[in-house]
Amino acid sequence: MKQRILVIGAGFGGMWSALSATRLFDIHGHNDVDVTVLAPQAELRVRPRFYEPNAHQLAAPIGELFDAVGVKFIKGAAETIDVEQKRVGYIDAQGEKQVCIYDKLVLATGSRLALPDTPGVAEYAFDVDQIEQAIRLEAHLKSLVNQPQSQARNTVVVAGGGFTGIETATEMPTRLRDILGEGADIDVIIVDRGDKVGGSMGPEIAEKIAEASEETGVKWQLKASVVAVDENGVTLSDGRRIDAKTVIWTTGVRASSLTEQIPAERDHLGRLHVDAHLQVIGQPDIFATGDVAYAASDDIGNHALMTCQHAIVLGRHAGNNVAAQILGVDPTPYSQPKYVTCLDLGAWGAVYTEGWDRQVKLTRQEGKSLKTQINTVWIYPPAADRKSAWAAADPLIPIA
Ligand SMILES: Cc1cc2nc3c(=O)[nH]c(=O)nc-3n(C[C@H](O)[C@H](O)[C@H](O)COP(=O)(O)OP(=O)(O)OC[C@H]3O[C@@H](n4cnc5c(N)ncnc54)[C@H](O)[C@@H]3O)c2cc1C
Repeated sequence: MKQRILVIGAGFGGMWSALSATRLFDIHGHNDVDVTVLAPQAELRVRPRFYEPNAHQLAAPIGELFDAVGVKFIKGAAETIDVEQKRVGYIDAQGEKQVCIYDKLVLATGSRLALPDTPGVAEYAFDVDQIEQAIRLEAHLKSLVNQPQSQARNTVVVAGGGFTGIETATEMPTRLRDILGEGADIDVIIVDRGDKVGGSMGPEIAEKIAEASEETGVKWQLKASVVAVDENGVTLSDGRRIDAKTVIWTTGVRASSLTEQIPAERDHLGRLHVDAHLQVIGQPDIFATGDVAYAASDDIGNHALMTCQHAIVLGRHAGNNVAAQILGVDPTPYSQPKYVTCLDLGAWGAVYTEGWDRQVKLTRQEGKSLKTQINTVWIYPPAADRKSAWAAADPLIPIA
């Protein structure tokens, strides 16, 4: 009987796992393994772009690509993982409970914003974590034009001044003016616990964030946190009130809760500890990749972050190594010592940095050109033909 690799999730980690597993089987002329992806949609949802407008366009179909390389696809959402019996329970497209059996499992179910229990957040705050939420925010922004003119209508509060908060906020003045008119008196305010604009990102990049905030008109409320949200705004930890019809929550991402069903060590974000081959430690038949994996990215103590940059490379390694285990060939240890960031700063441009200390290498329009290239080309799925898909899925291709 054919062996079965089940990949749960069709994001960056899952898609690249499936491609790299089929690649290695092809190289070894081995066609006795089923590689199946289980996910709610046969599409790659391009999460790094969800702070942009037109969120409904930010998903790329991958059904043809999977057909081209012989990956089977099951449309459904996994609910249970029985490690002893090697069974995954899922809800299929018709809403029925089903079961899928595996020999080897690759968990690639990503992460989610875990909203805090701060009063009003669940009811009134928006976010840009999943495509549905980004579409909901967009519909809300467009509806503002039908509300009576007021400062609250023209004000957006972004809770959290990290990567997502900064990209969302600096893009917002342009988005709001497109909706409310060029002359609209707009306020975009980031609320952050830190004491320096962009301080959590590192000193060199923080200077650029401050410059871009100034130019785009984004304000920061520092040393503060949002303690309550209501229909008309937020209350801050120091008692101050900001009237705003739009509040966007950006902090508190956690690994998919399916990780909790695997008896293994997890980090404070819920990610499974994996070895250099991305096998979950203590679970020889389970690999974890992308945002659910806590993986050392070099030998000097750094670990992969919950980023697309890491998820793509982790995916290529996890798929390759699960296939290598079945084939009995040498796995390829995961290593990604180069760390870069490319932070979109709205109309100012973007800032590109290298190194864990984020040394600034490109700014403004030069940075923006790179960001556009990354966001519209590099992170998209390869063409739906075997040759290009497998060439792109090689875990040893150099990392830019
Ligand atoms: C607004 C925003 C901006 C970002 N910007 C950047 C950036 O500039 N650079 C960067 O590197 N990273 C960025 N990221 C992070 C990046 O998007 C994630 O790290 C990346 O998407 C992780 O890939 P993944 O495959 O692990 O998870 P995901 O992309 O989340 O994919 C998870 C997959 O699992 C599926 N899934 C989930 N639950 C189940 C289930 N129960 N059953 C079956 N399938 C399931 C989902 O449908 C999806 O197919 C950003 C994220 C956000 C939200």
